[in-house]
Amino acid sequence: MQQSVQISVQFTAPVISGILITAIMERYDCIITGSGPAGLGAAFALLDTRPDLRILLLDSAQVSSGGLRNDCKMNFTYPVGFPYEYWTAELAAAYLSRIEEFLKPMILEQDHVDRYERRAERVGVQLLRIRQSHLGTDGGIRLIKELVSRLEARGVVLSFGETLTGADAANHVAHTDKRDVQYGALIVAPGRHGFDFLRRFMTQTGIVYTDNCIDVGIRVETRQEHYPIVADYYDPKFLFPERTRTFCTNSGSAHVVQEQYRTPSGAVWYSVNGHAYSEKLRANGLVNFAVLRTVAFTEPIASGQDYAEYLAALAMLTGGGHPVMQRVGDFRLGKRTTSAGLNGDLYDFEPTLSSATPGDISLAMPAKFLTSIWKALKKLDAIVPGILHPSTIMYYPEIKLYANKPRFLDDYFMAAPDIYLAGDGAGTSRGITGAWASGMRAASGIISRLA
Ligand SMILES: Cc1cc2nc3c(=O)[nH]c(=O)nc-3n(C[C@H](O)[C@H](O)[C@H](O)COP(=O)(O)OP(=O)(O)OC[C@H]3O[C@@H](n4cnc5c(N)ncnc54)[C@H](O)[C@@H]3O)c2cc1C
Repeated sequence: MQQSVQISVQFTAPVISGILITAIMERYDCIITGSGPAGLGAAFALLDTRPDLRILLLDSAQVSSGGLRNDCKMNFTYPVGFPYEYWTAELAAAYLSRIEEFLKPMILEQDHVDRYERRAERVGVQLLRIRQSHLGTDGGIRLIKELVSRLEARGVVLSFGETLTGADAANHVAHTDKRDVQYGALIVAPGRHGFDFLRRFMTQTGIVYTDNCIDVGIRVETRQEHYPIVADYYDPKFLFPERTRTFCTNSGSAHVVQEQYRTPSGAVWYSVNGHAYSEKLRANGLVNFAVLRTVAFTEPIASGQDYAEYLAALAMLTGGGHPVMQRVGDFRLGKRTTSAGLNGDLYDFEPTLSSATPGDISLAMPAKFLTSIWKALKKLDAIVPGILHPSTIMYYPEIKLYANKPRFLDDYFMAAPDIYLAGDGAGTSRGITGAWASGMRAASGIISRLA
């Protein structure tokens, strides 16, 4: 790592009209890009060991907008959120206990899990027992505000509405849309939305990466009475055969939402997702969760992201520019869902993602995913009878781009000298606690190089 100097350094700008312009370039010991859980975890971990460090935290959003804002259920048990290729159970547990000590989450109680576990075993499914907390979207926003003001009070310079555009790795200079800034270490944690940015950044800074793995699936929405397990276990994690699983269950005041993505050529596509407000807000009696299948590609498919974007384009084509939704009753009959038949009789609740287009998900979803997911849902219906009620809605697509896999130079996610890549965008995590831990791990690397 470059020598840490506490004063600003000077550099010489080009000669313009014969006048030599000398500019002062700001310098920080560490610049963190992204104020999601990875960035926050890194900032607090750095300060805990080295409160003297000058830290700049950048985010392109006007307010801290990382993933703590959405539902904010936190999982405190390996392997949820911790990709196997980077985390062992022991390592994750060590970071998780530090996160728990810091965030002091209220762990939710679980009841009757044995009963569901036994039913799951009978049909070849595993139910993971995960320690969880849930703040809800409103609670997550309150937590972000508190964390950001704590960082500010500890001297971190926060710059919202500023985007990292690249870096001169040789000279330790970060380029943003507003200025150039020198760094001792740079942590880049741009989240899933930062996939394209991260690819460009890695190419520009010479970081080698592959992206050959994606999760594709549906989001299920139903009445809580058809998925009563959520009263006993907030976010039950079922692992089905064929690398298929349930993911991100929301209940109480639960809503399906769509997240906007843009391809490098500028085409817009949406992935569905879900969140819930805290118990304080009015319950709507609905539940939503994802069922996802993971696929790792081999030759000749080089890029999971390119593949995902083709799938998304097909989904947008069949949905007229929006995700598609289909009732289970129609799916079973091989019929599309229509707006006319959407609500009434057995189809008795309004979809919360009203912008989704009633249609036929099998027109857009490859059999590899659809068959695994339908088989998983049938098994789930044997464990929690009711989930395949005709009114249950399946929204498509839910795509998780965990595809960027940088080649790291050390165990602390350093991908180029003094450049660390953390969080979901770099594939080092898959959730809030994993992202927080990955930021802490990058911070440990920085501290060890300072020592
Ligand atoms: C609707 C929804 C619900 C979710 N619910 C849960 C949940 O309940 N539990 C859970 O564990 N996970 C949940 N997740 C996933 C969770 O949000 C992520 O796993 C987590 O936020 C990843 O953290 P991160 O720090 O890597 O990235 P993020 O939280 O995405 O933060 C990245 C930040 O980087 C900023 N950024 C990006 N590019 C740049 C750039 N070039 N310059 C400057 N800033 C940049 C972004 O503005 C953003 O603020 C949910 C996600 C969504 C979308």
